[in-house]
Amino acid sequence: MKKINEKIKACLNCVTKPCQVGCPLNNDIPGFIKLLKENNLEKSYEVLSKTTVLPSICSRVCPYEKQCEAMCVKGISYTPVRIHEIEKYLGDLAIKENLPLKKYPKNKELKNKKVAIVGGGPAGLTCAAFLKRNGVDVTIYEKYKELGGLLVHGIPNFRLEREIVVKTIKKILDLGVKVEYERSLGDNLFLKDLEKEYDAVFLGIGSNVGNILALEGNDLQGVYNANYLLEKDIHLDLEGKRVAVIGGGDVSLDIARVLKREGAKKVVVVYRKGKKDMPSRNIEEEASLKEGIKFLFHRNLVKINGDTKVKSIEVVRTKFVKKNDNQLLINIPNSNYELKFNLVVFAIGSHVDYEVLEKSGLELNKGKLKINENNQTSNSKVFAGGDLTNNIKTVAWASKSGRTTALKILDYLKENML
Ligand SMILES: Cc1cc2nc3c(=O)[nH]c(=O)nc-3n(C[C@H](O)[C@H](O)[C@H](O)COP(=O)(O)OP(=O)(O)OC[C@H]3O[C@@H](n4cnc5c(N)ncnc54)[C@H](O)[C@@H]3O)c2cc1C
Repeated sequence: MKKINEKIKACLNCVTKPCQVGCPLNNDIPGFIKLLKENNLEKSYEVLSKTTVLPSICSRVCPYEKQCEAMCVKGISYTPVRIHEIEKYLGDLAIKENLPLKKYPKNKELKNKKVAIVGGGPAGLTCAAFLKRNGVDVTIYEKYKELGGLLVHGIPNFRLEREIVVKTIKKILDLGVKVEYERSLGDNLFLKDLEKEYDAVFLGIGSNVGNILALEGNDLQGVYNANYLLEKDIHLDLEGKRVAVIGGGDVSLDIARVLKREGAKKVVVVYRKGKKDMPSRNIEEEASLKEGIKFLFHRNLVKINGDTKVKSIEVVRTKFVKKNDNQLLINIPNSNYELKFNLVVFAIGSHVDYEVLEKSGLELNKGKLKINENNQTSNSKVFAGGDLTNNIKTVAWASKSGRTTALKILDYLKENML
């Protein structure tokens, strides 16, 4: 308690609030910290939850060092205020004390309006919460038996405890949001039926179909995709196995750590650029090193060797060369060599489920679902958000888009009042 009080006191309560600008959700950080200083827990949570319904989650998984804390004025000469720790403290306390999410004065016009949310990840959950808080009847349709999306089918438990996810979701459901589990769009759930039954539909089905490099040997036994392994919670036989994880983002480090913890003999992250170019967070790299993950930088995968099963991989060294004003990554000629591995796991990004979107008859744009400035798809009754439409694939950005879209849906419902 003493420690957190010191962190709370460290905030200067800047009038210009640069930290708020750095937060994807635009949380009023100085506002809720000021109320904590005054010991006004309920009001502080009310201020924080005006913009977020996932404080205990974002405070654990946001890259805060590049967002709110990077903008903290104190960070110019000292260390920044530990905003994520204060948000975690407040979010966890709100769970413990059972503080409800505030509902806004009932908008009588919206009393009989119904919205269907497809997908129960951060985007869908946030959209559902903000619609329900504004008096709209909401039902979430979710493919799996549980809600949370990549909060449970992606981010490992050792980085985000399941218990926190479950309790955060409970607060949203306590608003009166209804859920239909094991309902999958394009399978046992169809857009045309939802359109008939509801006044509007929000699609938040994410973008978690993992990419695989088109190269020789990618169909051998022992080649996997990180997103798939994590989403389906697949546990491989890893005894004595040497694993190459291809890619340098957070997903590659997550799967590398999961596989090492599950018993792989050796796990090597193979990345085509240098250490400083990795998109993953420094704290995740440090944690991975501590757990015995090895890194091989400036290597491009050329092919995977084996008869039926993976036996080795061929890599080529890479370097940056200057071309005009740009740095171009090239393979160094004749620098290929072979490395012995039993398993290859791709963690090189993901895309939307084209099959499901094609069945729904909605227009795509550059591989993503097409939406306009009101987050409406080519069907004006159907809105979308989260990873399905976002370029920045993080929990906070998905949640922000769920919240923004909820407000757009409210405007749409009011405009289409009969
Ligand atoms: C391994 C991994 C680690 C990550 N680590 C971080 C991190 O540390 N910090 C961070 O900010 N972000 C992280 N992310 C990214 C973050 O999890 C996503 O940006 C975020 O979850 C996207 O939210 P969403 O609601 O748009 O989609 P999702 O979380 O993917 O949720 C989509 C939901 O829709 C459901 N669904 C899918 N298809 C259908 C269908 N046909 N019918 C009905 N329902 C369907 C899914 O089951 C799911 O519940 C990570 C992602 C991965 C894969």
